[in-house]
Amino acid sequence: MNGLMMQQPLLISSLLVHAERHHGEREVVSRRVEGDIHRYTYRELAARSRRLAKALAALGVKPSERVGTLAWNGYRHMELYYAVSGAGSVLHTINPRLHPDQIVYIADHAEDQVLCFDLSFLPLVQAVAGRTKTIRHFVAMTDRAHMPADPKIPNLLCYEDLVDGQDDRYDWPVFDENTASSLCYTSGTTGNPKGVLYSHRSTVLHTFAIALPDALNCSASDAILPVVPMFHVNAWGLPYAACMTGAKLVFPGPGLDGKSLYELFEAEQVTVSAGVPTVWQALLAYVDANGLKFSTMRRTVVGGSACPPAMLRQFAEDYDVHVLHAWGMTEMSPVGTVAAFKPQHLAQPVEERYAVMSKQGRAVYGVDMKIVDPAGRELPWGGAASGDLLVRGPWVLSRYFKGEGGEALRDGWFPTGDVARIDAEGYMQITDRSKDVIKSGGEWIGSIDLENIAMAHPAVAIAACIAVPHPKWDERPLLVVVKKPGAELTKEELLGFYEGKIAKWWTPDDVVFVDAIPLGATGKMQKNRLRQMLKDYRLPVA
Ligand code: AMP
Repeated sequence: MNGLMMQQPLLISSLLVHAERHHGEREVVSRRVEGDIHRYTYRELAARSRRLAKALAALGVKPSERVGTLAWNGYRHMELYYAVSGAGSVLHTINPRLHPDQIVYIADHAEDQVLCFDLSFLPLVQAVAGRTKTIRHFVAMTDRAHMPADPKIPNLLCYEDLVDGQDDRYDWPVFDENTASSLCYTSGTTGNPKGVLYSHRSTVLHTFAIALPDALNCSASDAILPVVPMFHVNAWGLPYAACMTGAKLVFPGPGLDGKSLYELFEAEQVTVSAGVPTVWQALLAYVDANGLKFSTMRRTVVGGSACPPAMLRQFAEDYDVHVLHAWGMTEMSPVGTVAAFKPQHLAQPVEERYAVMSKQGRAVYGVDMKIVDPAGRELPWGGAASGDLLVRGPWVLSRYFKGEGGEALRDGWFPTGDVARIDAEGYMQITDRSKDVIKSGGEWIGSIDLENIAMAHPAVAIAACIAVPHPKWDERPLLVVVKKPGAELTKEELLGFYEGKIAKWWTPDDVVFVDAIPLGATGKMQKNRLRQMLKDYRLPVA
């Protein structure tokens, strides 16, 4: 017997319709590429998205066809999120920090028909425009007054002309909720990037899950500033969650330095933010150096790489900001776990609570996870053992776009490539990427643990730990460190800092001080490049 409830497909357009109808007066504020601050409401966002949907149809974009973007976080990008997916086409957000060759590759692979870009990416678009095979229209996301005089891109269209050319009388089409909605390519460290194709259903279910109080806890009373780019797994879903909950949205545009972010947090009374640890490092350095405080910001989501415990402690103790440590992947839309407390933690001493917060967290409803040994046998929770982390759920990838890479699942589970432990309470802790593990005498050493300890040292700005060959132990940990500006630190002092904090045999064998650690397109440390940089390094002979 079937239930007798309405059949309504879960469509992305319904989020915008809801925001317009029930939170129409709520603001969307953007720092523009043009330099000024732009503000309007969800009502205007919805009306302009409808006009844009009509304009894209008039350009000949059909359902399921891909529209690429090279854009910062801003209201025009938000309009594209809804106009493209809402019309049944597929929004392909491209990471502008990728090499132009990779951008050409993914635009061709995705068969993008239109490419919309912020003016700051004009030189990049000029570099790729003549090389891509399928793009029929290039659109500069600006108004007529700011159009480049000599763009060197044939028939360059102006975004505001497109929007102005249509009225907003448009009904969002209704279609199967499994229809593809958006496409992100993983920033894979080897081989070509692979496409992850989300659906309306997966996106809306993910939005419900991340908005929950023990996930990212979004509400109509919040002002959310996603620092995480809209080209990095849909800004972790926040552009959708904001519409679902009616939260104010604040977009930082290209201003991702500490000063610009801080000013926007204060001016717009931001309560929640989200980004990778490297961004927060820059922000904390700025507020620290200038003796500033956050007057409204109370929560920030940190993910994308491990949040160093020293950072969540600094946020809490110096700025009264609670860090929500989250873990996920492009292949997971992206959120999988969040380190929200359970009731038993609330009464615990603060040190024990920091220990909970520094884990990657417990699964949000909709995501199931397990750890397995190399033979694929499930490992128990609560032990010291770490294993390969596998996940499944309705917003987890089943295969890559166009079947790249072959079978993506193992017995119905997606292998994340992360190595993790899960404690008895269900909190997962990543110890490594499987390709970054350090295997010493047959035992794994968790590089993230070693990095976290180094980053708690007051003279350390950033630390990475990599495996180097060793004649007896196969591999040993080498710590690569960037010192804070002006800080004094010796190798002996730093290695002494490990005493009593970990098993003695985990202590790195050596420390190399460098000026910078290579970061990838989404702000993560690129250990493959670091290993390449240090390929001639030899451990000191004992
Ligand atoms: P991406 O798909 O580019 O976002 O990368 C996903 C990968 O980032 C994961 O498989 C993890 O290796 C890493 N990652 C994401 N969040 C965290 C976190 N909180 N702690 C440690 N690693 C993380």
